Parts: sequence; C-alpha cells; structure tokens
Amino acid sequence: MADHPKPIVVLSKCLELEACRYNGMSIKSDIVRRLLPHADIRPVCPEVEIGLGTPREPIRLVGSKEDPRLFQPSTGRDLTEAMKTFADTSLAELQQADGFILKSRSPSCGIKDTKIHRGESDPSPAGKGAGLFAAAVLERFPDAAIEDEGRLTNFRLRHHFLTKIFLRARFREITERHTMAALVGFHAANKFLLMAYHQTEMRNLGRIVANPKNEPIDEVHERYEAGLGHALARPARLPANINVLQHVLGYFSDGLSPREKAHFLDSLTEYRGGRVTMEVPLSIIHQWLARFRNDYIANQVFLQPYPRELMGLGDSGRN
Ligand code: SF4
Repeated sequence: MADHPKPIVVLSKCLELEACRYNGMSIKSDIVRRLLPHADIRPVCPEVEIGLGTPREPIRLVGSKEDPRLFQPSTGRDLTEAMKTFADTSLAELQQADGFILKSRSPSCGIKDTKIHRGESDPSPAGKGAGLFAAAVLERFPDAAIEDEGRLTNFRLRHHFLTKIFLRARFREITERHTMAALVGFHAANKFLLMAYHQTEMRNLGRIVANPKNEPIDEVHERYEAGLGHALARPARLPANINVLQHVLGYFSDGLSPREKAHFLDSLTEYRGGRVTMEVPLSIIHQWLARFRNDYIANQVFLQPYPRELMGLGDSGRN
C-alpha cells in the first residue's frame, strides 16, 4: 500500500496556516503540519469570513445548549445569523469533504467543547457544545471524519481520523473508476481493516460487492458507501486490532523462528497494556514483508492506512 490519494480536508485556518485568531495569533499542531503535503487542504476562518477583522474583540456562545447564539460582548452584536448563513453557503459549495480539522473550544469552530454562557450579561456556564460553524459541519457531513487539533494528539483518535480520511479518498477514486472490478479490489484490500472495525459490516459489504442480483453499479456503490460509513463510525477497538494482528501472524508463522514469534507476541502484550501504540507490532509485520513475499498481505490497507510520514507522533492519551 504505497500510494495514498489526497483526501479533501477542511482546516481551521488558524491551525498552522494564518495568524487569524481574535488575538492575532496562530496555533501550532504537529499533525496538521505533517498532513499539509498529503491532503487537499481547504482552509477556512469563519469569523474572518463574516467580516470580523484580525485582531478582533472576542465572541462567545450564549443561551441554551440546544440553540446557542453567537454574541460579541464588547459591541453587543449578535452574529448568529451571519455565521449560520456563511456556514450554510460555504458548506453547500464544498459538496465533498473527507475530513475536517477544526480548532478546539472556539465559539465558531469547536466541535464539542466550547463553553456556552448563560446569557449576554450572565457569563456563568450553561454547559459545553459545538461552535456554530462546527455544528453545521456535523449536521451536513455526518459520515466525514471530524476532529479538533487537541483530540488528534491522542494516537487512537488520530489513527482513526487518518485511516478514515484516506479510506474515503480512496473510495472516491474507486467510484470515479466506475467498474465492479475496482470495487472488488477495494473490498479485498480493505478486508483486514474492516475486520478490525466492524466484522458484521465487513460481511455485509462482501455481500454487496458480490452483487448477486446484478444491480446497476451506481446502486452498488451507493449501498457500499452507506455500509462503509457505518463500519467506520467509531474507532476500531483494541481487542479487534489485536485479533487482526494475530491473524496476520498466521500468514508468516511457518517462516518465523520461535523467538521471532515470541517477540511479536510480546509487542501485542505491550500494545494491549497501553505501553506502546499499534505502530510497534505493525512495524514488525513490515519487516516480515521485506523478507517474505506475500502480495495479499502487502496489499492490505490495515498495515498502512495512511502515509508513513504521518506515523510516529506519539500519544498524549488525551481524548
Ligand atoms: S477558530 Fe475558527 S474562527 Fe477562530 S480563528 Fe480559528 S479558524 Fe478562525
């Protein structure tokens, strides 16, 4: 799996790209910096787009958790309608996106952890929720990978996010090729990945690809895409990943010495205990692939779901 298509990723512009925050600053993010050359980045700063300058007086969410408003205390301006209109228009124009990386805790971009204040003159907390732009993203793109830069410091969430955006980009390519052979190849290459994510959905997708009723290819693609979205709704669980890694061991065990097998099983124990990330057992499998030719395993997306340059960022444990 050497070739990776470029996923379409919408990015809060203040992450690495531009000093457009209310205080005239930008935010550093290792994962964003590394992702830039590998993705088709669509930068956006919703607050600048609705005409607020940089630097600017801070804005905040006020009111209820269910229906917060965007308010600028220093001017008394209610920016709710302006932001909702911008979000609707810009997201409708976007049409396709594989993922979004949005700035955490922002009243516009935060996906879940933005403070909501009780009222215009009552700053006491009413809870936390999504910023107004992010809320529109979550509603319009329910199957896309949507994260903030803070959560992406967690290995498991980052691995899931990256796996999903590159998988969605690959599926878009397959859809454009518009042949059953391409879809069959896609499913075969993602077999182990789907096994880790959702075994029931993997079998369902296998039945869709088999296409026993000879349905038109557009319908098959549509059903497959829906199933894929369901399979990748949540990160793969650790025991399921270990199960697949043990499954891969079975393909190589005849050629490995008892010490090599023990070394691999030790890495699984460390991974299970949370002392290393999945990258450790995966790197051992890559060494086996360099020694023993096995095209079926080498083609499995599970072993390298995204470019190598995006690996090795560690794990903050935060989520
Ligand atoms: S959080 Fe969003 S609105 Fe705020 S500066 Fe960053 S991109 Fe702009």
